[in-house]
Formats: sequence, structure tokens, C-alpha cells
Amino acid sequence: MRTGRAGRYPDWRITPDLLPSWHRQALCGGIDTAVFFPADEECPPQRQHRERVAKAICAACPVRRPCAVYALVHRELHGVWGGLSEADRRRRLART
Ligand code: SF4
Repeated sequence: MRTGRAGRYPDWRITPDLLPSWHRQALCGGIDTAVFFPADEECPPQRQHRERVAKAICAACPVRRPCAVYALVHRELHGVWGGLSEADRRRRLART
């Protein structure tokens, strides 16, 4: 995830000193965070499309696995991380 706007959290920022080491290899570094995080007014078809685009980017990312693990461990509530949407993470956590 790059620093910058994050969907419904316009003030959200990750400062470089707080980033995990794998973040430096993130494929999404130059991509608008709106692709990964939902906007307030997002309707289901828009969400489906946005998540499909985000997951396609994650599929080619060299740090997909640590990113997904990070989101699961930290119980990230929003956004696509490591190719997993919010619903994907909820399902995975429910199984464990
Ligand atoms: S897996 Fe996806 S969200 Fe995670 S760093 Fe890579 S491109 Fe970004």
C-alpha cells in the first residue's frame, strides 16, 4: 500500500518508519489507494469491480503472502490486502 488517500479514510497515512519491511516491494506502491479501499458511496457492483482490479494487481505482487498475513494478523477491517478482500479475510478468520 502506498501512502495517501484511503477510500473512506481520507486522513489515513502510513509513515515510512512504520512500514513493514515487505512493503518496499509492494506492487501497489504507485497505485491510487482508492483501488484497494472502498469509498463511502460504493455500491455492490462498484465494489465487485474494484476488488477484482485490486486482486489482479495483488496476484502479480512479489509480497502477496506477507501482505495477506499482515492483514490477517492485524485484523485489518478494510481494503484488499494480499489479494484478500474484507469478506475473504472474515471467512478465513472464521475458519481458524
Ligand atoms: S499484495 Fe496487493 S495490497 Fe499487498 S503489497 Fe502487494 S499489491 Fe499491495
